[in-house]
Amino acid sequence: MNSMCAAISMNQTIKKVGIAVKTRFVSIFAEKREIMTLLDGLATSKQIKQEIALAVNEMVTKGGRPPHLAAVLVGDDGASLTYVTSKVKSCEEVGFKSTLIRRDSGITQEELLQLIANLNQDAELDGYIIQLPLPAHIDEKKVLLAVDPRKDVDGFHPENVGRMVLGLPCYLPATPGGIVELLKRYHVQTEGKHCVVIGRSHIVGLPMSILLQRNSNPGNCTVTITHSKTNGLNEICRNADIIVAALGRPEFLKAEMVKEGAVVIDVGITRISDDTKKSGFRLAGDVDFAAVAPKCSFITPVPGGVGPMTIVTLLSNTLQARILHG
Ligand code: NAP
Repeated sequence: MNSMCAAISMNQTIKKVGIAVKTRFVSIFAEKREIMTLLDGLATSKQIKQEIALAVNEMVTKGGRPPHLAAVLVGDDGASLTYVTSKVKSCEEVGFKSTLIRRDSGITQEELLQLIANLNQDAELDGYIIQLPLPAHIDEKKVLLAVDPRKDVDGFHPENVGRMVLGLPCYLPATPGGIVELLKRYHVQTEGKHCVVIGRSHIVGLPMSILLQRNSNPGNCTVTITHSKTNGLNEICRNADIIVAALGRPEFLKAEMVKEGAVVIDVGITRISDDTKKSGFRLAGDVDFAAVAPKCSFITPVPGGVGPMTIVTLLSNTLQARILHG
């Protein structure tokens, strides 16, 4: 090979290497972009609402009454009112009848229990929720125990919790139930995965851990449930394939706590003061989204992730109550 040929050959090689490097770069970049999928709870909940609306329409066309959900709100907490209002609005969207029952924060426990007894007796009411938290003078446990399990569409009554643990038909608690449905609709693989749940509350963390370890799909995870007294949480999280953050601490889950390719579910909703917003606040999740998202295979946003799935699960439970007991 003369020197001219060698130069051409060398140039070609450099070009090829250049293309190869560029292609590799593009493919790494493309892989990164392809790897992370946003678990869009808002879009998924709209799809499920359409399915529910169809079922309601069929029910009504056949001469039946639409499902009826009531919400009991005690006091005038702004966040609680927002949640309840959006639940009532969602009922209207799918053709349910809805009733918002508001009581002053001075209501006595006996008065509230009497209201619950009346709701239990109402044959035209399929399900109802008691918006939490309740004022300090009211024993929350006593109130939740008074709800007829057949109308307990929040899935908080011990009978429904027990049935969930045993894998029997029940109303799933709305937030963990919504997360499971979201994982299912996005075909997220859970079998054999190590899932870390941060938070052990009775309404989110604990039932979430139970649902993800069940012998079902989604499910079959090996679950570690953690809380404020857990030692070495960062290390535990770094070993997780799936993390469910449900602790109520804004942007608590940082990038260094998450391994590459993990699935991250952000349950947290905290109102943070923000003068640039008309409302005066913004919603923050428990995950440092900007830093964590690039490492994930799947992640939920806040807002637009778990929140809308929670509401739609409540609607699904109410439809189920209407079909089973209405
Ligand atoms: P919660 O009853 O206050 O429970 C919080 C849990 O997090 C507790 O188990 C607590 O541990 C644990 N925790 C607190 N700080 C921790 C830390 N530094 N490290 C590890 N664990 C810690 O709250 P929740 O009702 O489950 O709600 C959690 C969040 O989800 C809140 O932001 C809430 O607004 C939100 N949420 C959202 C939806 C939705 O639809 N998107 C629905 C429900 C709740 P201990 O048990 O040791 O105290």
